[in-house]
Formats: sequence, structure tokens, C-alpha cells
Amino acid sequence: ILKDKVALVTGSTSGIGLAIARSLAAEGARVMLHGFGDREANLQLKDELAALSNDCAGFSEADLADPEAIDGLVAQCTDELGSPSILVNNAGVQHVAPITDFPPEKWDWIMAVNLSAVFHTTRLCLPSMRQRGFGRIINTASAHSVVASPNKAPYVAAKHGVAGFTKAVALETAREGITVNCISPGYVWTTLVENQIPDTMKARNMTREQVMNDVLLAAQPTKRFVEPVEVAALALFLCRPEAGSITGANLSMDGGWTAQ
Ligand code: NAD
Repeated sequence: ILKDKVALVTGSTSGIGLAIARSLAAEGARVMLHGFGDREANLQLKDELAALSNDCAGFSEADLADPEAIDGLVAQCTDELGSPSILVNNAGVQHVAPITDFPPEKWDWIMAVNLSAVFHTTRLCLPSMRQRGFGRIINTASAHSVVASPNKAPYVAAKHGVAGFTKAVALETAREGITVNCISPGYVWTTLVENQIPDTMKARNMTREQVMNDVLLAAQPTKRFVEPVEVAALALFLCRPEAGSITGANLSMDGGWTAQ
């Protein structure tokens, strides 16, 4: 269903983004893989995506904390694959600490990657979507775009920001064949979650087991982590023509977390 479509998926070298990149490529989209990590492994992932869609995929390691690098990312995608009609703003970072101990440079970094980068990619990709009369912007927000947890103030602020930004851009593009939505997962088992376990252990003086059961899954009534492929299936649905009336929405996939 996505043949001839170009998809830029930020933060797609691992976790949720990789699952989304794979599901879009499997439907024939030319996908721009993007993110950090082992370069050899990432180039193999790019080949894997290319094999799914007519030997066409790209790869970038642009740092989303740097607006100039974001210019380069969109330009590279446009040169190599074509201008994206699907933009998935998925990359995100986390740091866990009480607010008075939060390093100000970590605040700047979380805001830059989790929120400002969404503004930059969106403003750069919208003109060609408008020309084409079709576009899909999907932002990976979080249950933390709706509710909060202690020791994550910058992340919660940035994700609430993404939800608000999504609504505003949805209204600006509502009559142009473009939809703008966020998906808000609860805890998904990825490296981002795994990496915050040691800090949470320290901050709350808990064992690894206690952090998993009493902190992470405490709020998730299903008592299981969301799978990246489940998020990918929803992202793919949002790209379908039948999803044309879903815009400005913040779609929860959180095992009932925010129903409480
Ligand atoms: P992940 O750590 O597995 O993947 C993050 C991706 O972003 C990687 O590809 C990484 O290389 C890339 N990235 C990070 N910083 C970057 C930067 N400065 N420039 C370019 N790329 C950068 O994480 P994930 O869990 O798959 O998270 C993906 C998104 O889902 C994030 O926005 C996160 O906030 C959100 N989310 C995750 C969960 C969860 O439980 N895992 C829950 C809700 C929301």
C-alpha cells in the first residue's frame, strides 16, 4: 500500500523506530533509516529495508540535537529517495533525576531531541507534502504526554509539548490531505527503557526486579511491556487512506495506563 512513498523515520536504528521502518518498507515504502549505533550493523539494516522495497533505502546518522544536521537529513533523504510523504518523528532520549539535581545541559538535550527536532523536521517536510496534497506525520509521544512520573520532568515536558505541537500542525494542515498524529505508548521493551533502570535503581534505592515490577509496570494494568511491532502496526494504519480523518489525535497504546 505504500509503493512510491518515501518515509523518513527518525531514530529507526533500534526499538520502536526500527519496527516502524520495517513495517513501512514491507509495504513498499522507500525508507530513510536514521539514528546512532554500530555503523556496520546499521548499514546491514539499511540493506534489509532496501531488499523489501525495490532496492531503495537510505541511511543517516544526523544528530537531531543540531538543527543544521536536521537540514542535512531532510536534504539527503530528498536527494537519495525523494521528498518524504511520510514523516515519523520517533527519536527520543531520556535522563532520570530529581528536578534539583537535573543537569541543565540534559534539559537542553532532551528538549532539542524530543521536541525541537520534531518542529524542524516538520517545517522542512511540510512544503513538499502540501505540493503533493498528501502527507502523514506520526510523532512517537508517550503516556508521558498525558500523565507524569517523578524524576522525569524534562521528558514529560517535552512529550506534552509534542502532543500540543501535533494538534496545532494538524489544524494548520487539515484541508490539505495531510494528517498529523501522535502515538503514545506506555512502557515498550527497548534499550531506552533498559538504560533507565540503573538510574531509577539509584534514585529510588531499589533492585532491578523492583524497578521493573513496582515502577515501570506498576502503572500498566496489562502488566506486560508493549511490543515495538504493536506500535508499528498502528503507525502503518495511520498511513493508510482509510486513516485520512484521524488527525490531531493522541492515540494511546499503554495497556490501560492513562485510563486510571
Ligand atoms: P531506542 O533507544 O531503542 O531508540 C531511540 C532511537 O533514537 C535510536 O535509533 C537512536 O539512535 C536515536 N537517537 C537518539 N538520540 C538521537 C539523536 N540525538 N540524533 C539522532 N538519533 C538519535 O528507544 P525507543 O524506546 O525505541 O524510543 C523511541 C521513541 O519512543 C522515543 O521518542 C521514546 O521517547 C518513545 N517512547 C518509548 C517508550 C518505551 O517504553 N520504550 C515509551 C513511550 C515512548
